[in-house]
Amino acid sequence: LDEKKRGILNGKLVINIFFENSTRTRSSFEIASKRLGADVINLDVSRSSTSKGETLYDTAMNLDAMAPNAIVVRHKNAGVPKILSKYTNASIINAGDGAHQHPSQGLLDLFTITKHFKSFDLSGKKIAIVGDIKNSRVANSDIELLTRFGAEIILVTPPHFLPNKSFNYTYNIQDIIDEIDVIISLRTQTERHSAPTYASLLDYGHNFQITKEILGDRDIVVMHPGPVHRNIDLSDEIMADSRCKVLEQVKNGVAVRMAILEFLLKQYEEAADLSHKTRVESLGHYIIFTRKELEIMQARKLSDVLKSLPLHTFYKNLWGGYSLQVGGTPPDIRPYYVLYIDDYEISTTAWRLGVLPFLDYPLDSIDHI
Ligand code: ASP
Repeated sequence: LDEKKRGILNGKLVINIFFENSTRTRSSFEIASKRLGADVINLDVSRSSTSKGETLYDTAMNLDAMAPNAIVVRHKNAGVPKILSKYTNASIINAGDGAHQHPSQGLLDLFTITKHFKSFDLSGKKIAIVGDIKNSRVANSDIELLTRFGAEIILVTPPHFLPNKSFNYTYNIQDIIDEIDVIISLRTQTERHSAPTYASLLDYGHNFQITKEILGDRDIVVMHPGPVHRNIDLSDEIMADSRCKVLEQVKNGVAVRMAILEFLLKQYEEAADLSHKTRVESLGHYIIFTRKELEIMQARKLSDVLKSLPLHTFYKNLWGGYSLQVGGTPPDIRPYYVLYIDDYEISTTAWRLGVLPFLDYPLDSIDHI
């Protein structure tokens, strides 16, 4: 958060490729990369070959051939980052995929909330998410992440924006205003609606706008991932209110993305060097490290951030632990990046397996962690 430039990622290359519009996320990743000393290329998608009919697969393979260390991707279709990760050596960072997930926004929202309450334990805190929840990837990432830290989520939304999830909900924020600690307001995702849901956004705002009258002098934190529809999502007065954290979220976003990049581009590689010296057993595309090796390779400060990655990035592995896939190469080679959990506690170190010898052990020779 000190905004100083560091040389941690000197010599690394980050490619930003955004197939959907972005103001904050793209510049935030760019600033984060540059603050860490990496080179950044922003691909102008309207001028890229995808608009000339190249498949996503070929675009990914071609970008990867230029040997970037990370590709930050946003796409209107859910699952695109995961697909790309199968075909690239670079770490793929999901900067928003359709209405599915926006993990870095989830992390920065968590960071902003835990910083405010000075605790990672959010038990007893009630967070109202207000707006077009069904079509919001931010809502998905926030719900998944904040509940892991103990927060209770209450959805405030009209019926047609209610997702198929079993959360408490209400159509009227006044019903819960005295119980809640945080409001996360969301933009109506008109670009994802197949048919108009309101005659105008003003109609929606009439019922769901957060105003000073609604908030009163209650001690409630107000957040929004942006872009804000002023006087529809949040009133001018709320935007100017000290309880409104919108700009703090943006500021925190750079720090959180620096942490993500440092973790993926630095700690992997350090760990990969170290892992040459240690015993590695592998089965299929999962690699198991022994407890001792985990101790040697204990990760450092990012454990809390990693612990909070949205669930969909984790796969429960055959041994009752979890693996994190953040990248990979073509199916015939199949090295994956994995993260290990020791006794259900995340060990917080990931390895870039592309550099490891790929051994094929039968299942019963695996030394369980
Ligand atoms: N900027 C956020 C996103 O990309 C929220 C929004 O666009 O409403 O999902």
